[in-house]
Amino acid sequence: MGADPNCIFCKIVAGAVPCFKLFEDAETLAFMDINPVHDGHCLVIPKAHYPTIFEIAPGAIEAAARTAARVAKAVNAAVTPDGINLMQANGEGAGQSVGHFHLHIVPRRADDGLLFNWEPKPGDMAHIAEIAERIRGFL
Ligand code: 5GP
Ligand code: ZN
Repeated sequence: MGADPNCIFCKIVAGAVPCFKLFEDAETLAFMDINPVHDGHCLVIPKAHYPTIFEIAPGAIEAAARTAARVAKAVNAAVTPDGINLMQANGEGAGQSVGHFHLHIVPRRADDGLLFNWEPKPGDMAHIAEIAERIRGFL
């Protein structure tokens, strides 16, 4: 997959829109998010345009994961958060606002009140087993 002329992240890859670049290699780019949750919030993208996890090529997500691990360690050293979440949204229903696959590297503070954590509540085992069977049917 190549570039989408209407995609803001493709424009960043092409250098047509500026970014605070952290790292790049042949397949990936890491840059600061301009609406940061906390200091150090940044994004890792494949340079090629894949809208979501459903289209991304295996090599591209491997490369993005490799870059994310490298950049997360640097963020951890630079801003010494209490922890870091990697986050990735697919589709508007999951909160995706830019349709070019990206991993968020989100430094966290223990008391920051961010809402993408949830309270673990015990599930119904029969229901879990049924859903697992349904998913296995597509693998
Ligand atoms: P999503 O909501 O799709 O998971 O995340 C998209 C992210 O891209 C948001 O956190 C948003 O702040 C960031 N973003 C949107 N436009 C730009 C831009 O032009 N430059 C940079 N650096 N980040 C952007
Ligand atoms: Zn794109």
